[in-house]
Amino acid sequence: MSVDRGRRQILAWGAAMAGVTIAPGITLFDLAHGRPPAEGVSNNVRWGMLVDVNACASDCDACVVACDKENGLSGAKTATSAQWIRKIELTAPSGQTRSLPMMCQHCADPPCVDVCPTGASFKRADGIVLVDRHTCIGCRYCMMACPYKARSFVHEPLTDQKTDVPRGKGCVESCTLCVHRIDRDQIPACVEACAATGHKALLFGNLNDPSSEISRRIAAVATVQVRADLRLDTGVRYQGL
Ligand code: SF4
Ligand code: SF4
Repeated sequence: MSVDRGRRQILAWGAAMAGVTIAPGITLFDLAHGRPPAEGVSNNVRWGMLVDVNACASDCDACVVACDKENGLSGAKTATSAQWIRKIELTAPSGQTRSLPMMCQHCADPPCVDVCPTGASFKRADGIVLVDRHTCIGCRYCMMACPYKARSFVHEPLTDQKTDVPRGKGCVESCTLCVHRIDRDQIPACVEACAATGHKALLFGNLNDPSSEISRRIAAVATVQVRADLRLDTGVRYQGL
């Protein structure tokens, strides 16, 4: 049997068994919250985000608060606390100001992955750039390589961690696009929180699907990649910059 055929059969088996009950009220996989693990991710999808800077309010940090809560970054902040998304203010030569969220841009050609000596920094098939906390040695090369200052080093011992978001002192981390939510067919916490404020400045979706809302918006309006000259092909795009 070829490897491909064998793999297809395993996937088919997994899909067929997904709804099987293994104990009262417990199925083999939690289909209500996403796909069976055997299905994995594919490069048919490239997850991305579009930030509408015109809709982002300077006095709002709902995305930051939601990220902290979702990923267990809440609590007293110090100068060295991890931050996965932050608000920045830009002032144009005309004096006009713009407020926008900045986070890992989920680069298609990520320098953080290129420089990592252990392979801990990696990119999933669906474009999400992550750090494997088991293999990160805390060398911080990736922090130096990232042009967006998107990564944080965990200095403090961690308590009360979220089960969905394992973290570790001595590791580097950054925005995961809420991968644990995406794998359950949910949107990132920041996007949900922004929509709840009514600003609707964040749009999440599949950049590889021309019919997705994000692809249609990018085709219809002027959008930019921050520091496009670096040719990193970012998954996060900005409208109104
Ligand atoms: Fe890596 Fe920085 Fe690009 Fe994120 S923004 S993928 S951390 S280089
Ligand atoms: Fe890789 Fe961790 Fe070093 Fe970053 S700090 S380059 S993820 S080993």
